[in-house]
Amino acid sequence: MGISRYAYKGKRRFDISTFDTEDTGEFTSRDQSVDEFVENLLVINKKQQKLYSERKEGVIFVFQAMDAAGKDGVIRTVFSTLSPHGVKEFCFKVPSAEEKSHDFLWRFWSALPPRGFISIFNRSYYEDVLVGKVHEFYKSDIVPDRMKDSDVIQDRYRQIKDFERYLYETGTRVIKIFLNVSKDEQARRFISRIDTPRKNWKVSSGDLREREYWDAYMEAFETMVNETSTPESPWYVVPADHKWFARLLVSRIVRKTLEEIDPQYPPLDEATKSSLQEYRAKLIDSLGEKGYREQEKQPKEYSDPSLIPAEMLQQELLQKQAESDEKLKENGFKAVRKLLAENYMIRSLNDIMDAIAETPAEEKEEAEEEGEEDDESTRSPAEIREHIKEIVEENEKETDNA
Ligand code: ATP
Ligand code: MG
Repeated sequence: MGISRYAYKGKRRFDISTFDTEDTGEFTSRDQSVDEFVENLLVINKKQQKLYSERKEGVIFVFQAMDAAGKDGVIRTVFSTLSPHGVKEFCFKVPSAEEKSHDFLWRFWSALPPRGFISIFNRSYYEDVLVGKVHEFYKSDIVPDRMKDSDVIQDRYRQIKDFERYLYETGTRVIKIFLNVSKDEQARRFISRIDTPRKNWKVSSGDLREREYWDAYMEAFETMVNETSTPESPWYVVPADHKWFARLLVSRIVRKTLEEIDPQYPPLDEATKSSLQEYRAKLIDSLGEKGYREQEKQPKEYSDPSLIPAEMLQQELLQKQAESDEKLKENGFKAVRKLLAENYMIRSLNDIMDAIAETPAEEKEEAEEEGEEDDESTRSPAEIREHIKEIVEENEKETDNA
């Protein structure tokens, strides 16, 4: 259940030639991993709420990969249950003329997360040691002579490490994820994009061109991981031939990162605590006796009677969390469904499962319009599980070709 064998923190060398892109860890099928995936999403959701409330630390998740490795799908599924106010995705493309007129890190400053926020970098400054290295773009850059004399790429590794260390020391963690797909699997996915009309928009001639530089890219990825992994800013190399496993692993990585940060709801100082009580009294006054039925709304008994409402709420949440963790183990999907509803999340379990299975939203809408909508509420957990299996199998046939 670990991620350590996929982690590179500066000591262990990454050897891309022996890396198994088809690895599925301890699982032999997607079906076995669904429970854990959903649980990870729930934990991530809770931790992010705390991260946001605490406003102490920012986090950047960097995603790098060859085309069609599944970056977009991973990002969509793993981060889809997060509250949008605390998360932002940035897609870095070929630099604009303005961006090119600055140093290579310039365009990333404005994408750094404020404390409590998560930035997702869909591609990043690592492109400058990947595509930039493979095509030797630096040779045609108009820059001072001293930059021409030194080993530009080697300098960039160091500059990136310095940049990430600076960010870590000033309150922002950078976690890097390389989705490692095989050349054959990439070919299968390109073919599927060509064969499936709704995926045609994803195909570009540039993708096929870059494929011709495969070996040079692999060398660049390997060196990148070995040169820029540190304990604070590790690289995770994720086997990406099986989309479901890549998504599961990334959910583990995000979960573990947030668990390590261990954010807490911010404590209240004494002055705020007492002013809250004053506000409360005033509010009740303004409602009058009829407007506020004190008896009915009395909070439950708490172990510490000196607790003020905010703390009570916190305690209640913790209690609920403990209960729900238990429930999750006992009842599986039924509990997850309830939990999602309790958390006022818009996404139903089915939405998540659809995301896992990549069932396109349009198809669902069409089915709904045609009155094919199932009544989920009456299904038993076993039936839901069966239904998920069907979606997954259907999707495997349709999209993975593997
Ligand atoms: P998708 O294809 O799924 O929409 P994408 O991330 O592949 O997503 P594209 O617009 O296809 O988006 O590709 C972005 C391109 O920008 C990539 O080919 C990448 O190598 C290139 N790029 C990003 N940063 C740089 C850079 N600093 N220098 C040169 N090229 C870059
Ligand atoms: Mg692309």
